[in-house]
Amino acid sequence: MPFRSRYIGLIDKYRDRLPVHDDTRIISLGEGNTPLIRLNNIPGILGKEVDIYVKYEGLNPTGSFKDRGMCMAVTKAVEEGSKSIICASTGNTSASAAAYAARAGITAYVLIPEGKIAMGKLAQAMMHGAIVIQIKGNFDAGMQIVKDVAEHAPVTIVNSINPYRLQGQKTAAFEIVEELGAAPDYHCLPVGNAGNITAHWMGYREYHENGIVNNRPHMVGYQAAGSAPFMRGKMVDDPETIATAIRIGHPQSWDKAWVVREESEGWFDECADEEILAAQKMLTEKEGIFCEPASATSLAGAMRDIKSGKIPEGSKIVCTLTGNGLKDPDSAIAQCTSPMITVEATMDAVKRAILDNMD
Ligand SMILES: *Cc1c(COP(=O)(O)O)cnc(C)c1O
Repeated sequence: MPFRSRYIGLIDKYRDRLPVHDDTRIISLGEGNTPLIRLNNIPGILGKEVDIYVKYEGLNPTGSFKDRGMCMAVTKAVEEGSKSIICASTGNTSASAAAYAARAGITAYVLIPEGKIAMGKLAQAMMHGAIVIQIKGNFDAGMQIVKDVAEHAPVTIVNSINPYRLQGQKTAAFEIVEELGAAPDYHCLPVGNAGNITAHWMGYREYHENGIVNNRPHMVGYQAAGSAPFMRGKMVDDPETIATAIRIGHPQSWDKAWVVREESEGWFDECADEEILAAQKMLTEKEGIFCEPASATSLAGAMRDIKSGKIPEGSKIVCTLTGNGLKDPDSAIAQCTSPMITVEATMDAVKRAILDNMD
């Protein structure tokens, strides 16, 4: 056979490194195997000799990295006989849980903060048939309720406190190492609950300990300034940011993430909302890659640290783009300054519009 076997998802590919058995029924939508794209134009704009790659996790089946963890969490929930799953979500977890529950034929209950999730994510959760419960409170309040409910009801929590989530998500680090032939020098991520930065570090550590690579990256976590508990050194009760996916004040992987910083000799920092949106715009305009605001936090922070020299020239940097820009059309359109042009449907009118807008 001249053809390679069909890619059928990360559990199949990394079966030996994941807690599944030969007869486990795998719930998959072909997640993982996302592109690692080298930025062509932004390093020049920064005036620095650096290699920046973005791992475009927005190309997962439901448009975010959450699918990597959700396929594992739902696979294990089904294996253990669970008929329903539950999560609190800033949006992407609910979209992913809804899709994988649909695939498995079980029920998903999702708690979302009223009015604070991007439209695309809500559309996904509703279309996939999840029971969507809006709460008059933020993610952190929802998370606490979910933990309490799960103690009294036969539902499996699929937030990142579910250990199988991190197992699935560690595979992103495997893919990066395989593609680059080594670990990068720096790996930058947006941080909300800090599950993903923890999972990536697990993946890098595992490949290092198994002798598959001989280096490990410095892990760098960026938060939105209005919801930056890791910068404050304590929980934040009223987190606020345009980057709704990381509008989290009480990170569930608090202790683990501090260990990641320590072991990887990395750091945390924060980005203002304006900086996050500027990075999102730059990536779309200069590289043709559309991610959601929260995702751009990794690049916003990395660009600042590259400019200041904290990330030195000659470095190889990976920024995770956690979610797809199509998730949040409202925030995208709101920040576009060039107006849309409406003209008569004639050649002359269109020609004039083109000439008027040439630079
Ligand atoms: C969930 C999410 C994050 C935050 O990931 P954590 O594991 O909670 O730190 C960042 N960006 C997007 C788009 C997300 O959906």
